Amino acid sequence: MDNYIYQQKIRLINYLKEGGFIKTEKVEEAMINVDRSIFVPQKYINESYEDKPLPIGYGQTISAPSIVAYMTELLELREGDKVLEIGTGSGYQTAILSYIVKEKGLIISIERIKELSEIAYKNLEKLGLHKNVKLIVGDGSIGYENDKPYDRILITAASPKIPNFIYDQLKNGGIAVMPVGSIEEQKLVVLKKDELGKITIEYNISVIFVPLIGYNGFKLSNNEIN
Ligand code: SAM
Repeated sequence: MDNYIYQQKIRLINYLKEGGFIKTEKVEEAMINVDRSIFVPQKYINESYEDKPLPIGYGQTISAPSIVAYMTELLELREGDKVLEIGTGSGYQTAILSYIVKEKGLIISIERIKELSEIAYKNLEKLGLHKNVKLIVGDGSIGYENDKPYDRILITAASPKIPNFIYDQLKNGGIAVMPVGSIEEQKLVVLKKDELGKITIEYNISVIFVPLIGYNGFKLSNNEIN
């Protein structure tokens, strides 16, 4: 990593801690060790450690580091967790999850755009974070039956409502985090299922994500990539 990017990274990590986006050592360690510049297209490489989303092609974005850190904290991940992620994108958030759950854990990540899923795999491989990751191409708005139930579920695209599959595919004692609302603006929803299966739902901060496109998501309009 060149010196400019390294200095930017130190500044960013301090900002994320001071701003309360990073709260635990676990998440701090992941944010320090997973190199975001690997997941960013070459032309934006000098912006890798600025706190902003960046284009990754196909009309999609890699989320801002602050939102990645914040959602990861909300998930309260543990080593060994089995996590379902919807919206692989560049694979950056997937890498953060993979780093935290370690070899004993498993991340199943679904992306609807095949080319992005392929790029994400190469990115994860570069960091050796692909070994506990299974990438699937498909419509994640219906979840993924094959490996259910999941300890944690994370949706990284805006959903018009809490998708029904969450209630069935999340384990008792599990946590799901997702942006829910309109195309223009969403609230981060934290849904918890206790050991008896009782659900609680909290509405957290306002966020803006690209839309979840699919059966339980928004419908594709003519100018969007299919
Ligand atoms: N977390 C990603 C990262 O770190 O680069 C960024 C995710 S991006 C904000 C949202 C992703 O969700 C896009 O790549 C988009 O193609 C994908 N997506 C949208 N609808 C989807 C669906 N129904 N199933 C799977 N992926 C979907």
